[in-house]
Amino acid sequence: MPADSFYSLQDKVAIITGAARGIGAAIAERLLRAGARVVFADIDEREAQRTVAELEAGGKRSLVVAVDVTQRVQTEAMARQVVERFGTIDILVNNAGIAGPNKPLVEVSEEEWDGVCDINLKGVFLCCQAVLPVMLKNRYGRIVNIASIAGKEGNPNLTPYSATKAGVICLTKALAKEVCTQGIYVNCLTPAVIETPILKQVTQQQIDYMTSRIPMGRVGKPAEVAALVHFLASDDCSFTNGACVDISGGRATY
Ligand code: NAP
Repeated sequence: MPADSFYSLQDKVAIITGAARGIGAAIAERLLRAGARVVFADIDEREAQRTVAELEAGGKRSLVVAVDVTQRVQTEAMARQVVERFGTIDILVNNAGIAGPNKPLVEVSEEEWDGVCDINLKGVFLCCQAVLPVMLKNRYGRIVNIASIAGKEGNPNLTPYSATKAGVICLTKALAKEVCTQGIYVNCLTPAVIETPILKQVTQQQIDYMTSRIPMGRVGKPAEVAALVHFLASDDCSFTNGACVDISGGRATY
């Protein structure tokens, strides 16, 4: 591989769920700058359009798709729309997620539990199912799932969130073993606190608790997560599969 093509995503087609803002928007920006054609797949279409307008003048290499990742009809329609516009799907970044209820488990309602599971875990399952037929046909794909440090260690008062993120880690490992002989590599990341609008969903006390556990003594930036996703989404990621890569400022060193 020539040095100037290290990490190149030239003409690769990447779907990023939850790309309207936060970590997803930073990943979209990074992959666009690496040459990819990027699908901003988000439940908030207007915000996704606004982000595209900010990131790419003319939006020729971008496509906004309004999708609720909990709805199979919508994830399947998303995959069809991407293939119609760009001809293929090379990369899927399952990033859409919510923090869910921030309270003790005894107070969590069944509806709240189901809501978090639907978006954070079933959404990953549905999006993988929607794109895999294309990737399997091409014998090429990179799937990157955004889990969380909460899925390794468990955060008190975020039980549904922590449980779903543990589920994402194991979905990653299981799927990675199923498809790796067909040119598709599946990995996940476990960020600690990253400065994004999701933090509005949790109390300041919760943020302080999570930040105090980071040895580097600061929260992470969306662009730092995007840099790691860039590698895992590229051809250079050729012997890393089923991995759970830490990005927590040293909170987890495994
Ligand atoms: P964010 O700022 O809240 O952005 C998430 C995006 O996903 C929003 O645009 C949101 O739209 C969208 N979304 C929510 N539900 C959706 C659905 N059903 N279908 C499609 N899109 C949906 O969150 P973030 O902090 O960037 O987090 C991104 C990912 O990183 C999440 O999976 C999160 O769990 C994970 N993570 C974040 C942190 C952190 O500290 N920020 C740490 C570890 C892991 P709406 O706003 O309209 O709902």
